[in-house]
Amino acid sequence: MTLSELAGILTDELKNNSIEEAVLEAELLIRSVLKLSKVEYILADKRVLTNQEEQSIKHALSQRLSGIPAAYIMGEKEFFGRTFRITEDVLIPRPETELMIEDAMRTLPKGSKTLDIGTGSGVIAISMKLERDDLTVDAVDISEKALIIATKNAKKLGARINFFQSDLGENIKERYDGILANLPYVPTKDIPDSHEPLLALDGGADGLDTVRRLINQLPQMLNPDGMAWLEIAIEQYPVIERFAKQIFPSAEIKAIKDLAGIDRFIRIKL
Ligand code: GLN
Repeated sequence: MTLSELAGILTDELKNNSIEEAVLEAELLIRSVLKLSKVEYILADKRVLTNQEEQSIKHALSQRLSGIPAAYIMGEKEFFGRTFRITEDVLIPRPETELMIEDAMRTLPKGSKTLDIGTGSGVIAISMKLERDDLTVDAVDISEKALIIATKNAKKLGARINFFQSDLGENIKERYDGILANLPYVPTKDIPDSHEPLLALDGGADGLDTVRRLINQLPQMLNPDGMAWLEIAIEQYPVIERFAKQIFPSAEIKAIKDLAGIDRFIRIKL
């Protein structure tokens, strides 16, 4: 069977199982098994696959059809123009998080001391450091397993980051100019069966337990003119804005929208 014939079979199977973007997912599964770049994949169109290759690709397909996200099968995900290694120990990075990084990158003064809380695979910390080499970037996570992945990503991509283990601000002794966090914010009852770690998703009854816990700690962690960015879900902004105003009555607090025009981040500027 040729590569393009197998791509057709995968696409049909994915479509029949209501998987959106079936053409793209088929391509990504095949490319990751055969280790092909996009260009190599296009050029290999007529290549006849070995039995072994065909079996490996079909195995990846069956994993996908059992509900495992493509990013976990491939063990990697693109974020901010770079490829990050991921496993089921960390959240799959989402494109909307890039907007928080863009805003922080534009706003933080030169040489700012920056902290990423709940770093997961390290995407926020690593992207910030690689885009803004003048920043000092620290990153923490409660999960040792996540820190191992984040450290590997930083090494592979050449970003100098100081990683350490901490439950939110518990082990943080210094103050920062900029704090970024994509914490768990999904209400417990809304958590899908996505194979992603609950630790990275479950935000309690209204989704905001961890976000509120961090905002409570921020006064001890931010410099006098520091700033914080936190990712949140649709419709959470008014609730979290009210809460943040109690902790920071004189701060400038605003919502940052995602590309769909939805308030998806809260920015607190002291
Ligand atoms: N964006 C993720 C989702 O909607 C949630 C990530 C998080 O809780 N930080 O599933």
